[in-house]
Amino acid sequence: MLKKNDILTAAVTDMNYMGLGVTKIDGAVIFIQGGVTGDKLEIKIIKVAKGYSVARIEKIISPSRHRIAPNCSAFPRCGGCVYRHITYEYENELKRQRVENEFKRVKLDVTVKEVISAKKEGYRNKLQCPVSESCDIGFYASRTHEIIPISACALQEELTLPVYEFLTRYIKENKPSGLRHIYIRCGVNTGEVMVCLVCKKSGFKGDKALAERLISEFDEVKSVILNVNPDDTNVVLGKKCITLAGKDTIDDILCGLRFTVNPLSFYQVNHSCTELLYKTAAEFADVQPSDTVVDLYCGIGTVGLSVISERRAKKLIGVEVIPEAVENARKNAEQNGVENAEFICSRAEECTFPSPDVLLVDPPRKGCAPSLIDYIGKLLPKKIVYISCSPDTLARDCAELVKHGYKLSDVQPFNMFQRTEHVESVVCLTRTFNE
Ligand code: SAH
Repeated sequence: MLKKNDILTAAVTDMNYMGLGVTKIDGAVIFIQGGVTGDKLEIKIIKVAKGYSVARIEKIISPSRHRIAPNCSAFPRCGGCVYRHITYEYENELKRQRVENEFKRVKLDVTVKEVISAKKEGYRNKLQCPVSESCDIGFYASRTHEIIPISACALQEELTLPVYEFLTRYIKENKPSGLRHIYIRCGVNTGEVMVCLVCKKSGFKGDKALAERLISEFDEVKSVILNVNPDDTNVVLGKKCITLAGKDTIDDILCGLRFTVNPLSFYQVNHSCTELLYKTAAEFADVQPSDTVVDLYCGIGTVGLSVISERRAKKLIGVEVIPEAVENARKNAEQNGVENAEFICSRAEECTFPSPDVLLVDPPRKGCAPSLIDYIGKLLPKKIVYISCSPDTLARDCAELVKHGYKLSDVQPFNMFQRTEHVESVVCLTRTFNE
């Protein structure tokens, strides 16, 4: 029986998706903080729970070939990265295995392809930081609400960092009361930056002057928004946005198309990897000019508009629940010269639409509602291209679609969120029978 404070020698045989090393000693599973597959370690047990124990490294006896020195002083305290101490190649392989395991779990026998990644170190076009009541600003420590002050983050697009530094200084000096979060988003290809100040009430003293200063001191800042969020939940943004200075939206160019994005609308965080993802989705969809395409969970219309951009389509119908995103999607269709697109503001599971030739689905982490899967099973589109940031709900939904007569032909993961635990995938399902 393992006991707390036991010191043992361990060979790490695997890593889990939280970035912990895994070993088994006499059948007991031990998760090792900072352990990497292939390490030989001296470890100390720090927790004994039912079914598993947790250990930390006392000494690295011999390091794994996958191990690298983490290049961030906040790692691993900051909850953002879990794989900063291993090579990109091994991280990609772990993510591929994770997707494969989720499909195995639901008894779908598929070959999961090698992970595609864009290999850009500072890839995040969105920086979101909590501000404490005492005006500390940074990132949450892993699985807590403790704020770790951070001066710069290696995952961020460089465009966002000078604005972040400026705001950190401003917040320390001026202690704006009621400011809960700052959120900075940039259009990587246009160089436009949006700053969103999330407040408990409708603003703070000096908010308008700060907004005007941001616009005048930073050429790239084109929009400063005040977002009001009075709720005490984990959701960062409230529903109300007030433009303090500049435009209400910013633009970006993605897959050769111009997209306008509002602060409340979803926009993929990794620009280069998103282009690779959408290109694969377009290849899977293989839209023909006579096709009707439905894009569920369409956000600002990025997937549908990019997928039909080469060969057009007879009709594109997008469905999205956030009204501001729908408004953006309509403008995005228009500014890219797409006239046969219609966007419906509705929950995907509450909407009716004609049976498409190609159905695009890109839900949030919880996946599709069972009623939506049943509806798809009645419409029976020829092809379904399903994009997902959650391999477990993706595999679950694919297993249901297979019961409706679909064959899972391709599973392609993307390392959209390098260094973090998350993995994005796109899969193609084709109907196995003719109507
Ligand atoms: N396809 C888009 C957005 C994907 S994110 C892109 O790639 O940019 C998922 C989207 O689903 C978000 O825009 C979110 O607002 C929306 N959403 C969440 N729940 C929904 C629901 N029940 N019905 C329709 N849209 C929903």
